[in-house]
Amino acid sequence: MSPTVDEPKWRPPDVDPAWRIYVNRSLRLASIRAIGFDMDHTLACYAPEPFEALAFRQAAAKLVACGYPRAIRRMRHDRGLVQRGLIVDRRCGNLLKMDRHRYVVQAFHGTRKLPREMRKARYANRRIRIGARFAAIDTFFALPEITLYAQLVDLLDRAAERPHYSRIYDDVRAAVDEAHADGSIKRAIARRPLHYLQTDPQLAATLEQLRSAGMRLFLLTNSEANYTGLIMERLLGRRISERPQWCDFFDSIVVRAGKPGFFTRRAALVPLAARALRLKGRQTCRFFTRGSVGALEAELGVSGAEVLYFGDHTYGDILKSKRSCGWRTAMIVPDLEEEIQHLEQTRQARAELAVLERRIDQLDAARDFLTRAAAGQLAPQGVRRFLRQRGLRGGSRAIPEHLAAIERQMQELAGQIRTQEAGIEARFHPHWGPLFRAGREISHFGQQVEKFACIYTSRVSNFGYYPMEKYFVASAAPMPHER
Ligand SMILES: [Mg+2]
Repeated sequence: MSPTVDEPKWRPPDVDPAWRIYVNRSLRLASIRAIGFDMDHTLACYAPEPFEALAFRQAAAKLVACGYPRAIRRMRHDRGLVQRGLIVDRRCGNLLKMDRHRYVVQAFHGTRKLPREMRKARYANRRIRIGARFAAIDTFFALPEITLYAQLVDLLDRAAERPHYSRIYDDVRAAVDEAHADGSIKRAIARRPLHYLQTDPQLAATLEQLRSAGMRLFLLTNSEANYTGLIMERLLGRRISERPQWCDFFDSIVVRAGKPGFFTRRAALVPLAARALRLKGRQTCRFFTRGSVGALEAELGVSGAEVLYFGDHTYGDILKSKRSCGWRTAMIVPDLEEEIQHLEQTRQARAELAVLERRIDQLDAARDFLTRAAAGQLAPQGVRRFLRQRGLRGGSRAIPEHLAAIERQMQELAGQIRTQEAGIEARFHPHWGPLFRAGREISHFGQQVEKFACIYTSRVSNFGYYPMEKYFVASAAPMPHER
């Protein structure tokens, strides 16, 4: 007799899907000794609309100052135009969405959707290589520059003369970079930090929970010392009585780290005075600038897979820390909360789509069978049984008519499927559909998260929903033949 497994009568309440931690590669928290955090868009989440509109305005002003039309000042940042994970075709002024195989599934010229035929003519059967011509939009910082670029392409297409599309892209990039580098954006945030920041009331308690479990915590950011101090004070200052100063949560703090170079170079950490981070009084934490991963591991007394690093940037934080030094990686994807909400809202529509897809698969199989039957490749009694079971009259002579009817039904179903898919996609994003999907495939962005992040979640404080001994187990994704 085979052993029986009792089904549990009671299940613990589940964490809300929007706040769950999702696992690509199994991770045992008990084997982690140090946890590091990037700051911008990881610990410090910015309110998307005001933050992106600020960068947009600053960059637009800089473009006008260097000779672009004054009409740019009337343009407005529009989040509906872009999505993370897009690709810019600098040569043609196009924005592209590609799937995990790097084929283009969606394209816009400026802000206008490229008709299917034009998209196919330009990009069909062509794998996109990120490089000189194709630029990846994978950070939050890049979103405003792309909405600006798309609108500029529209504006300059109407002008008698325009610079080359790649020149426009380079000028927009340079304008945004300058707005970050000359402090225009940071000064505006410093004046009204609470307008631009989304403070998380659970963050301090979550960091405290990690510390109580014996983890060493560190902050590793590319931001300047003064700006880091200002932002971190808003996030963690005076949140719990045991740690009155924000730096009390950390063992080491590295600012101006110069990631991703930090993960590959060899350089000593340069000590920094606490006052550079706007801190006064006594601190137990140690402050540095520059340095390298080896120097930081020596400082913390940990190495490789004992470190879990939280970041938001697939390349600069996640890929580099994982590949270069074997750190385990947690990717913060704030958009995940909205994406999961849209998944819930489209549950019924997606179930209906699955029914349509099953129906077209059945018709496809019937078409294959009848095509082989018409070619005399099948035994007559098998063909007769097939026709009888489906109520198809007229015997073998009528097979061409049945095939034509199946063809018509498939075309009709294909139209219904396209309409249903478009309706579902529009619920996620008016132009680009789901962040993690490109048509029926995983999107390029989704694939990067899957490939590079051991775990991913929408915010750092989601760790507070799990025990500190948690073993996060990856569910084995079946291959097509295993499904
Ligand atoms: Mg960041």
